[in-house]
Amino acid sequence: MQMKHLLVASVLGLVSLCQAQAADFVKWPNGAKAAVSLSYDDTLNSQLDNAIPALNKYNLKGSFYLSVANEPLSLRMEEWRQAAKQGHELGNHTIYHPCRKMLPGRDWVVDYADLDRYTLPQLEREIATTNAFLHAVDGRTERTYTPPCLDLAVDNGNTSIKPLLSKYFVGVKGAPMHLPPEQITDLMPSGVSGKELIAFVEKAAEQGQLASIIFHGIGGDHLTVSTEAHEELLQHLASHPERFYVDSFINIMRYARDHKE
Ligand SMILES: [Zn+2]
Repeated sequence: MQMKHLLVASVLGLVSLCQAQAADFVKWPNGAKAAVSLSYDDTLNSQLDNAIPALNKYNLKGSFYLSVANEPLSLRMEEWRQAAKQGHELGNHTIYHPCRKMLPGRDWVVDYADLDRYTLPQLEREIATTNAFLHAVDGRTERTYTPPCLDLAVDNGNTSIKPLLSKYFVGVKGAPMHLPPEQITDLMPSGVSGKELIAFVEKAAEQGQLASIIFHGIGGDHLTVSTEAHEELLQHLASHPERFYVDSFINIMRYARDHKE
């Protein structure tokens, strides 16, 4: 009997918790069920060659998180500038892409870009310099950020970088701003099918969430998603504008900022 009461109480608790969360949720424009952010990290050739032409074909806007030291930035500057003119977002992904080398599976991190050895002022200079560089490319003054490896601490993990985030950015992937954390669902796909990508955005639509997809290579480079799977998702999103509000991450963040309950 006690067990039964406990069960009923916890079920009720769960229901009221869900209602409380739903009440805080930002409602998406024009009755859309989900917001979708398509972003692409690391300044990769396959993004210029494959992702941007596919986005343009379906008239969808993506966000490209550029690490300034990566060669496809300086070698193909005019193409990135052109992408910005087409309405795509150029976001900050630092200069050297520092990640925490002490974490498991991070042997590939080079010593000069070991975030565990960074101080907060050092990362701040790198972030501010990247914003200045991107301003020189596209003339914009507001940015969003994807932390390299989604790491949010420097100095052997002892110092949070969160104080920098609201100072320099309108939004940050992997560190919720302007939305309840429960309203955001992240995916960093690699080797997935179009069906799996579509299932992810459809689940977000059932829950009224922001589906934040962090791509890397498209039909090449690393953490690759095939051009076919990528295009299948874009075609699905473009065919259902009543259900999906697809925009650059900065526009979604501005919308969320201005429409908080
Ligand atoms: Zn990255």
